[in-house]
Amino acid sequence: MKAYRMLQWKQPAELVDIPVPEPGSGMVRLKVAGNGICASDLHLMHEWTESPSHLKIELPMTIGHEVGGWVDKLGAGVSGFEPGQPVVVTLAGCGHCRYCAQGWNNYCLNKGKQVGMGLDGGLAEYVVAPAGALVPVSSMDPAEAAPLTDAGLSSYHAVKRVASLLAGGTTVAVIGVGGLGHLAIQELKAITPARVIAYDLNERSLELAREVGADVCLKSEEPLMEPMSVEAVLDFVGAGATIAQASKMIRPLGHIVVVGRGPGAFEFKHNAMPYGAILSTTFGGSKLELMELIGLAESGYIKPHITRFSLDDVGKAYEMLEKGEIQGRGVIIPS
Ligand SMILES: [Zn+2]
Ligand SMILES: [Zn+2]
Repeated sequence: MKAYRMLQWKQPAELVDIPVPEPGSGMVRLKVAGNGICASDLHLMHEWTESPSHLKIELPMTIGHEVGGWVDKLGAGVSGFEPGQPVVVTLAGCGHCRYCAQGWNNYCLNKGKQVGMGLDGGLAEYVVAPAGALVPVSSMDPAEAAPLTDAGLSSYHAVKRVASLLAGGTTVAVIGVGGLGHLAIQELKAITPARVIAYDLNERSLELAREVGADVCLKSEEPLMEPMSVEAVLDFVGAGATIAQASKMIRPLGHIVVVGRGPGAFEFKHNAMPYGAILSTTFGGSKLELMELIGLAESGYIKPHITRFSLDDVGKAYEMLEKGEIQGRGVIIPS
């Protein structure tokens, strides 16, 4: 089968032929319907010179960690899934630590290799995933559901973190309307009555923000919202400058969630933000949140905007991602 594999650090991956993998004990083989492409893959290919210790990446490795597909073959000891069943792949926690016991598999401290980050990923015709990482999909096309596992879930987790602050008459700002931000706007509209303000530098991204329901769309260099005017900020850029912008908008007792990993720093000290305001970072989201999100998408509240590419065009797709030329999320369809 064709697979897009990293052969060496600091080199783009290459499309190569490898055997179809067999699922080991506790694992499930999926026929890949689609794999969303993520900026983390650009860091993985272009910047990392070795594996982060917790991921234990050994090359060569097939990349791609936003996977939707159909169950193809169950490994030994796996039950509860049927061949042909549509599923998506989420982060696998250890299942026995305090975080996992609370349902926060995304914050598990013992999580090891993940699909596309240690284990072979979804930019291939078939992928093998831990059974515990699979989440069933009902009516959605699993290729369209694939971006919900990462772009969708990371944004939904951030939305859930601030949702209790967003009663009627409140305002939330979304900074950066890319793969994550355009979903965050829809998620906010689906589960809160708050007014949503979207910020982006790019006019086309602001058009997308308008299309998916933002109440106010502002170019990032336009004058800021009134100081202390929003209950929550979701920062999908996460640069020093955007966190500083968020710190001026946020109200006392508000919450700024920084999801993006942009450059630069923000100096946190007394008077950097109004009293009682919280600044936090997040990683991914929980398995239960992914189930909720798929439910919202299948009920029509959320629609991921995707641009489809064939597996042969995967290199071009990453180039476009790097240049910011993909609206919404790029999804590779292997066959
Ligand atoms: Zn990602
Ligand atoms: Zn755990």
